[in-house]
Amino acid sequence: MPVVGPIGEPLAPMQLPTNWMLNDLLWTKEQAILAGINMKNVPIQAKYVSSFVSGFGRGANNIETWRWPGNTDGQTRPYLAIPYRWLSGAHQDAGARQIISESFDLITADVGGCIRFVDDSEVQAHNYWIRLQDDDIIGCRATAGYHGMFSTKPSQELNLAHRCLDSSTINHEMLHSLGFFHEQSRPDRDQYIDIHFERINSTYTSQFDTMDSKGFDWLNMSSPYDFKSIMHYDAFSAQTNEAISAKLPTMTKKGTDVPVAHPDNMRLSSNDAFQLAKMYENFCGKPGGNYIKVRTCDDGARYLKNRVCDGIKDCDDNSDETLSFCSTLCYFLRFRKRL
Ligand SMILES: [Zn+2]
Repeated sequence: MPVVGPIGEPLAPMQLPTNWMLNDLLWTKEQAILAGINMKNVPIQAKYVSSFVSGFGRGANNIETWRWPGNTDGQTRPYLAIPYRWLSGAHQDAGARQIISESFDLITADVGGCIRFVDDSEVQAHNYWIRLQDDDIIGCRATAGYHGMFSTKPSQELNLAHRCLDSSTINHEMLHSLGFFHEQSRPDRDQYIDIHFERINSTYTSQFDTMDSKGFDWLNMSSPYDFKSIMHYDAFSAQTNEAISAKLPTMTKKGTDVPVAHPDNMRLSSNDAFQLAKMYENFCGKPGGNYIKVRTCDDGARYLKNRVCDGIKDCDDNSDETLSFCSTLCYFLRFRKRL
């Protein structure tokens, strides 16, 4: 069956690409070349595209090939359908499958339903899908963006080892699959954080590179640097043994000793959701439209409307949780949860 591209046309067969491992990301050789990576350097230097980015400059609309087309079964819908199938034997435990599918559904809820995840294992209506694996040696790993244009394979990997089965990790990896990269690799990250390379295990130094503009034409999504992003690494990632002993973080907020804490919420940040919706604007529309409902914090930042008074701080000033009607609403939410 031919691979179907974003415009729904069968593609000519391509040479089977080699997958290149990059931390928890897999890039095809074609993606790496597009990213301006010297293919003689193996492993590939860490040159992630962050969630800040939505465009290549080299070639017209190259980034479009990274985006899921929504018509991998030939059907047109008002929302983006992302098909997945369980690799035979993977995640046999029904509990594991439930955690994974419910985590996907959290993303759907965050974007108001404009992106939906379809278990295609039984029906097998789609000719390209995400292949859910559970290899404990591989760990938590996903391909970067849609690979249907690059690969003659009918599926792309999303590996969730058993230690990856929490909604934070599952959604992090799924956002990679949808086209997101790490927040701390944004080209402008040095304005917001300090990276303490002397505390980083040399094996992982390259993971703290930023994407530069070489080979890219960055499209600024006008999104603030997002410490709450589910795509941001933890401040205590990749420490040297000395740093572990001394409890020294590898990332701190700019000009301070404050560690860049991993978001304690287990879900997308509001800005993750806004950026995801913008990446798939053809399906999701604009914030304030049918799908993406927005409220404004007292400090002017935006957050998802359905997160008001939900007990988790979205606004830095906590104004999403201190509204006068929160106490009443929270009472009913608590009451409902007890039922
Ligand atoms: Zn990652």
